[in-house]
Amino acid sequence: MLNLLNLSRVELEDFITRDLGEPSFRAVQVWRWLWAAGARSFAEMSNVSKALRAALAERAFIYRPETLEEQRSRDGTVKLLLRLADGELIETVLIPDERPGSDRRVTQCLSSQAGCSMGCLFCATGALGFVRNLDHAEILGQVLVGREVLARDYGRGSAPRNLVFMGMGEPLLNLDNLLRSLETAHSEQGLHFSRRRITVSTCGLPHGLRPLGESGLAGLALSLHAPEQELRARIMPKAARWPMDELLAELERYPLGAREHITLEYLLLGGVNDAPEQARALGRLARRLEAKINLIAYNMTEGAPYAAPSPERVLAFERELWSLGLVAVLRRSMGADIQAACGQLRASASNKAGDG
Ligand code: SF4
Repeated sequence: MLNLLNLSRVELEDFITRDLGEPSFRAVQVWRWLWAAGARSFAEMSNVSKALRAALAERAFIYRPETLEEQRSRDGTVKLLLRLADGELIETVLIPDERPGSDRRVTQCLSSQAGCSMGCLFCATGALGFVRNLDHAEILGQVLVGREVLARDYGRGSAPRNLVFMGMGEPLLNLDNLLRSLETAHSEQGLHFSRRRITVSTCGLPHGLRPLGESGLAGLALSLHAPEQELRARIMPKAARWPMDELLAELERYPLGAREHITLEYLLLGGVNDAPEQARALGRLARRLEAKINLIAYNMTEGAPYAAPSPERVLAFERELWSLGLVAVLRRSMGADIQAACGQLRASASNKAGDG
């Protein structure tokens, strides 16, 4: 049996025309039902012939992750703990836009793996270790689930405006499923997200950055978190195996469209990477790459090895970047009251279940 949500647009067409002997316009109809309408069953596909619905039910099914737990923050952030078919747990987060006048604009943060092998020291997912890659249906199933939550809360037709691959996992370690998912996310007859509305956040891996750039399917956020190699190696030991000089050289070659920029993500860890001279070093890198900077103040978790930066240090860091004429945005630490940092909800669910 085949999960239809695991098929690309071309694969679905092949299945419907070659395996089931139906005309190709039927594939378009089914695709629309799956991705534009978010159908959960073949019975809902009212403009598809009964015979085809029966044939589909014999050979295929529609399965997406199930919501196990929903947490809501005072700031409007909604975090969903999802269970996969094999019982693995992942997270996705719906984050309302913080800019004034942008109410109901929601960015959805997606997971690309269950767990993560990168072991960044500040990350709850890293502490869980790697379980497995998510497939196409599991990656984009998160969007279907998120859309249902938004439709329930804000009315029919509500959907996430932007997608960011910043949840559990290192997306470039699941490159094939990532690229397949990005293709499907773009489909005009389906989810219909343009490149400008999708960002892939990565530590930067030698064999993954170039194919992602060449695909032209998403913007890039690079999780830098340290302005020099030695410190990066301390807090992101596996990511830093790719020396920063080589990473930066690759970033300089990263293909960008008009008015597009790479974003450098920088998590401020109290007393570790939040000094003014580190802001200046970060500024030099951002200049070299013509990159924007996203600052995030570390959100301390139980047993965390790092402290949150003081508000004064955060402000001083920001000012240093501004004085260099750089665009640096301090992201709110969203959903601090619901453990919105990546991996925390999954980690606490594991603890409750006794496996973490
Ligand atoms: S920060 Fe990202 S890459 Fe690093 S351990 Fe966490 S999920 Fe993995």
